[in-house]
Amino acid sequence: MPISEYFSRDYASASQRFQSAASRAGGTLISYGLPGHTGPSGEALGIDVVRLGNAQSQSALLVISGTHGVEGFAGSGCQVGLLEDRLYEALPESVCLVLVHALNPYGFAWLRRVNEDGVDLNRNFVDFSRPLPSSAAYEALHEWLVPADWEGEARRAADAALIAFGEAQGMPALQAAISGGQYTRPVGLFYGGTRESWSARMLARVLAEVLPGTVRRLGVIDLHTGLGAAGYGEPIVDGSRPADRERALRWYGADVKDLSAGESISARLVGTMARGIERARPQVELTFVGLEFGIRPIMDVLTALRADHWLHAQSTVDPAVRASIQQQMRAAFCSASPAWQAAVYGRTADLVFRALRGLG
Ligand SMILES: [Zn+2]
Repeated sequence: MPISEYFSRDYASASQRFQSAASRAGGTLISYGLPGHTGPSGEALGIDVVRLGNAQSQSALLVISGTHGVEGFAGSGCQVGLLEDRLYEALPESVCLVLVHALNPYGFAWLRRVNEDGVDLNRNFVDFSRPLPSSAAYEALHEWLVPADWEGEARRAADAALIAFGEAQGMPALQAAISGGQYTRPVGLFYGGTRESWSARMLARVLAEVLPGTVRRLGVIDLHTGLGAAGYGEPIVDGSRPADRERALRWYGADVKDLSAGESISARLVGTMARGIERARPQVELTFVGLEFGIRPIMDVLTALRADHWLHAQSTVDPAVRASIQQQMRAAFCSASPAWQAAVYGRTADLVFRALRGLG
């Protein structure tokens, strides 16, 4: 089967493809349905999980797609490929493989990066029993990021203000202020929410119910798109302990970038998934990388995100404008180019094999 056939054009076919490939692989398939929401064609939404290999293993590799909804087209294609290419036949006896498909199924189906509550899952893993992180840097920019109108004077003034901020403070400071994570603006970008999301609760169930209780060493590859050079996958290690970051370098090689050190194409973030997994399974040795694939220039991606958040802040929008913004989101976060898809799948498969060697 050509690699491009692993990749789907909508959530419903991606989910079906994953489920049928998983059942052919003979794995244990578990689905968690998202209550109260459906997709654009009325389809049910949910997270699909398959476990392959030794159910009493000491080590496990978890590969996650669709943490950021619309980014799931790429991750789903890679997961389907791993199943179709029978990766599980290469599993060492001591390692099991868990694939989590469409962790944010609502965003995947509706072409949004955020979930059904406007929440960015990879900012939602804060400890909500403690005071929320500061949103001051984002607050200074919010009115410009999501202006009152998208085609008129307010947008032009907002763009000029953002450009002026970037020139005065530098682009890394602008990126950090926008994308670091904020907890005050539910209609804004990179909003982490004020309570644990449904997807975060389901991930906790996967860790408790699907991941074998015998696992002491866990590798996670969380698949993302949107940042970096087109077709290149940057492995970004997110670990709170130096040993976890050093292990990622040993497994994956010198092109691993450290999120906490500010080395990555991503800004430093708060409330990331790695913190949630560390809290859920504190006894486990965790090696967590986000694998981030570039598609479009960063300003195109930011413009698509601003348009998407503007769109969802309106009570009524011309259907043609809505369709055009959804098309912008699709173009910013997934590519139908077979060359891009082959690069993404090849890089992902390479990192999966490196992880299995590290874990085995
Ligand atoms: Zn992402």
